[in-house]
Amino acid sequence: MDTALISNEIKTIKSMFALGTDIHFVFYQPNFECAFDRAHNFILDMENKLSVFRPKSLVSKLNRYGSYIPIKVCPEVYNLIKKSLEYSKFSEGYFDITIKRLMDLWKEAKQKNQMPSKEEVELALTFSGSENVQLLQNYKVKLKNKVKLDFGAIAKGFLADKIREIFEQEGINSAIVDLGGHILTVGKKHDESLWKVGIRHPFKTREDVLGFLELGSTSVVTSASYERYFTIDGKKLSHIINPKTGFPAKDDIASITVVDTNSTFADAMSTALFAMGFKKAISFIQDSKTIEAVVATSFREIYITPGLAQKFTLCDSSFRVIKTNEVIVL
Ligand code: ADP
Ligand code: MG
Repeated sequence: MDTALISNEIKTIKSMFALGTDIHFVFYQPNFECAFDRAHNFILDMENKLSVFRPKSLVSKLNRYGSYIPIKVCPEVYNLIKKSLEYSKFSEGYFDITIKRLMDLWKEAKQKNQMPSKEEVELALTFSGSENVQLLQNYKVKLKNKVKLDFGAIAKGFLADKIREIFEQEGINSAIVDLGGHILTVGKKHDESLWKVGIRHPFKTREDVLGFLELGSTSVVTSASYERYFTIDGKKLSHIINPKTGFPAKDDIASITVVDTNSTFADAMSTALFAMGFKKAISFIQDSKTIEAVVATSFREIYITPGLAQKFTLCDSSFRVIKTNEVIVL
């Protein structure tokens, strides 16, 4: 635990490691112990259930046997699958929890340092698709066509929403949680000022910011090409798959940040928009009218939705800021 006095404000930082990332809780108020303990235990419990890296997790069991018999899951996982299917539909299939076999194919290719053949990708693609997930009565789930599920793109958002619920029940009204680049802001600072959330510079080090957003209680989720990319044969590839092609997403989006009070939605959408690639993502944002986002492109432009434009401060003047409602992307 680390309590520090920074510009006359007392804050306490509590940290943990889960889902392959450091998670930091920053409390700007006393009496947070109970809230932290509950959040901490909930995260570890859900990691045990959702992880595809743990052979004994509920999701691993579902992936192993779900194509043969219906598997009973807990209400949390059942509801998360339900939400995932909704977001898949909403994103026209670009967010897709059934891409696990494709992820496995690319993981194997990375280990062999050899691109998979077109046929291998096409075969893995046939074992994907949200229509192959059936939600039955009594929290039972059946998978069809040998699909396997991966919650990597939505788990942190789901946890962030639950942490907010726990904080509300425990009377937390001034805190910020960083789940590995996924920021949850709760309430306001003691002086009633807004939270300043930095957007990492896509081409510089972890400490450099491209700009920052001044926000109230919400969540800020970024998917980026600098995060967790891998290389095959010297070629840099994204860890986000385009479910339409089965290949890693294009890298014309350097980073995409989605702001929404619904963290699960923000997480799913940041991944989906990244998977779409620049042109499709901008036209999707323009059509949706409900998505608030900041898109930094590999050609040093920042596309920002009108709802965030006043809240954003640019820190690198070599980027050009463009409002998404004032542009036609050809
Ligand atoms: P991060 O984990 O870096 O925050 P994301 O939230 O964008 O990034 O999730 C990326 C992870 O989601 C991948 O590692 C993979 O497990 C999974 N994934 C990859 N492509 C998709 C996709 N199109 N839809 C849903 N999940 C995906
Ligand atoms: Mg995501």
